[in-house]
Amino acid sequence: MSKVYNFSAGPCILPQEVLKEASEAVSNFDDLNLSLIEISHRSKNFVAVMDETVSLVKELLNVPDNYDVVFLQGGASLGFIITAYNLMRENGSAAYLNTGAWANKAQKEAAHFGNVVEVASSKDKNYSYIPKGYEVPSDADYFHCTSNNTIYGTQIKEFPTVDVPLVCDMSSDIFSKPVDVSQFDLIYAGAQKNMGPAGSTLYIIKKDIYGRNGRSIPSYLNLKIHADKDSMFNTPPVFPVYVSMLTLRWLKANGGVEWIQERNEAKAALLYGEIDRNPLFNGVAAKEDRSNMNATFVLANEAHKETFDQMWNDANISGIKGHRSVGGYRASMYNAMDLEGVQALVNVMKELENRV
Ligand SMILES: *Cc1c(COP(=O)(O)O)cnc(C)c1O
Repeated sequence: MSKVYNFSAGPCILPQEVLKEASEAVSNFDDLNLSLIEISHRSKNFVAVMDETVSLVKELLNVPDNYDVVFLQGGASLGFIITAYNLMRENGSAAYLNTGAWANKAQKEAAHFGNVVEVASSKDKNYSYIPKGYEVPSDADYFHCTSNNTIYGTQIKEFPTVDVPLVCDMSSDIFSKPVDVSQFDLIYAGAQKNMGPAGSTLYIIKKDIYGRNGRSIPSYLNLKIHADKDSMFNTPPVFPVYVSMLTLRWLKANGGVEWIQERNEAKAALLYGEIDRNPLFNGVAAKEDRSNMNATFVLANEAHKETFDQMWNDANISGIKGHRSVGGYRASMYNAMDLEGVQALVNVMKELENRV
């Protein structure tokens, strides 16, 4: 079978060698002649998987000692709720930066718990830029932002310095570059973009947030309970955690987040370079806020749509149809996408120019 270039926005591309090893573990894990998904999560073989996954997260992101790393279920969408439940006081308030559909959903969930202050929004231009120069109220229980806006193709290049605890949804760019974890009180990320299959969510928690808001929190939603139980409060998502471990091993073996940052920047430079050079295409996001993970672009002339769609399909390119709220195209270049894949797309864009 010929290679397919997978530009899907999520779930999305994972390294081939990870998929191969993961499928082997589904039938025979650790030479036990048992499947990874049919052994006890409390067996020493699986506990070793959880331990290694957590230590790889700590090592790759240089997580300071005063932070806990846990894996839960529920996706980033449960993270929206967990954030507010663990950090907002009764009758408290929280500040949100509205940079897109996910940011907006996060703030809607928080509104169930208290007063939400939207410090800035880029909704006026269909979220095509990252607002800057806003003020965060100093009495907010926390400030929440979304590092990468998967749908619109924008990315925060520099996190704001704020006087209140900083919380970030990093679902679509975690492990794509180095990040200074010590700036944040809470980071969360669904696994299905740069880590593994959907079904597990990573939380990196500054320990001093525990109990801070004085609320009584149901067990599953209480981050401290999960941290105290080493992510084994209930049955953890064993397969997504295992695959995340394999992806993080792959990342470490290749040179870690510095290595992947260089590769991601090279891919983004190649694609955005073509979008800017080729008169048949226009980028959607403001140049200074362009995402290195998700590039959004449109045809300058809709009349070329049928030809272009046929051409990229024929070139074994998959998953570049834009999100319905933006239209056009979105090429997601997560960690496992290599430069060759982006080059294949760029070649099709050049060929279209030659043809029309
Ligand atoms: C994909 C995504 C989500 C949604 O994650 P779920 O795991 O489906 O809840 C949230 N935030 C961002 C930035 C995303 O890219």
